[in-house]
Amino acid sequence: METMEQISIKKTTNSKLASLDFNSIPLGRTFTDHMFICDYKDGKWQQARIEPLSDIPTHPAAMALHYGQAIFEGMKATLDSDGKPLIFRPDKNAERLNFSARRMGMPEFPEELFVEGLKAFVDMERNWIPPMEGSALYLRPFMYADEPFIGMRAATSFKFMIIASPSGPLFSKPIKLWAEKKFIRAVEGGTGEAKAAGNYAAAIRPTEIAKAKGYDQVLWLDAIEHKYIQEVGTMNIFFKINGAFITPSLDGAILNGITRLSVIELLKFKGYEVTERPITIDEILEAEKNGTLEEAFGTGTAVGIAYIEAIGSEDQVIHISDEHPVGQDVNETLNKIKTGKIEDPFGWMVKID
Ligand code: PMP
Repeated sequence: METMEQISIKKTTNSKLASLDFNSIPLGRTFTDHMFICDYKDGKWQQARIEPLSDIPTHPAAMALHYGQAIFEGMKATLDSDGKPLIFRPDKNAERLNFSARRMGMPEFPEELFVEGLKAFVDMERNWIPPMEGSALYLRPFMYADEPFIGMRAATSFKFMIIASPSGPLFSKPIKLWAEKKFIRAVEGGTGEAKAAGNYAAAIRPTEIAKAKGYDQVLWLDAIEHKYIQEVGTMNIFFKINGAFITPSLDGAILNGITRLSVIELLKFKGYEVTERPITIDEILEAEKNGTLEEAFGTGTAVGIAYIEAIGSEDQVIHISDEHPVGQDVNETLNKIKTGKIEDPFGWMVKID
């Protein structure tokens, strides 16, 4: 296989798979047997490898630890009804990783090697993909600056890696959002549209504060007027008003979600109108008052579709809906496509035989 020439493979002699209880998988804490790893040095990517998962020696001056040149991706592999692994739109993650890399002054990783490497890696870890409905093998590609250097400039050595963590069934439950007016996630010209580690660091404390108030996630608003809706936690957001869908346009601060893109395509396929445009919180309040606000949901790799029941803020609570018929329908269709239960009309799934 061509991939094997490009990627050197060393298998573990000590698989941990037998110790995994598929009926009780601790979320985000269990990792598969191997890792994909490729070093960037002397101006180019070196030989890619798949090898047993291990700790990585890190110099205390590694630049990612100080200046935050670190980006990542999140995606999932599922099983079809014949037990063959399927990966959801890996080319889109490869593109977005490189978009993030450019913004953060990091080298691009060859997109073909990203996809081929991911396929070879998932092929090796296929027995770790949980078969239960709603479960998946979470894949985490990432890149960081490992050059030991104190000083403000782009690093010259990096690591690109992929690790994987099985995740048991995650079912969407309705969530309540806190419309955040003090803390800001991102601003046009900043790094919000990159999947940069620092964006997440800055979101941790506001999220903890929102949770302490009894909310599930932060609804991020624009930096200047605190009225334009950006996204929710680590998801994009959709509203259904008067039979049609709206979602915030990619304004330079919002992450270009792959689920967002897919849901836009799927809603249109199902006959709905979907408009990408700036949306204010006042407009949502107005739609609630005049009875045209029908549904809202977040979209992201982790849970697929998260139904939104309410949005609270210092001024008011907007009650959205207790029923989420279209959200549920979209969620089910996405899950069926991801597990090969219905034909994939979009050609999204990449199968590994
Ligand atoms: N926004 C942010 C900030 C995110 O971290 C994510 C998760 N990657 C998303 C949106 C949703 O993106 P995707 O649909 O590609 O998972």
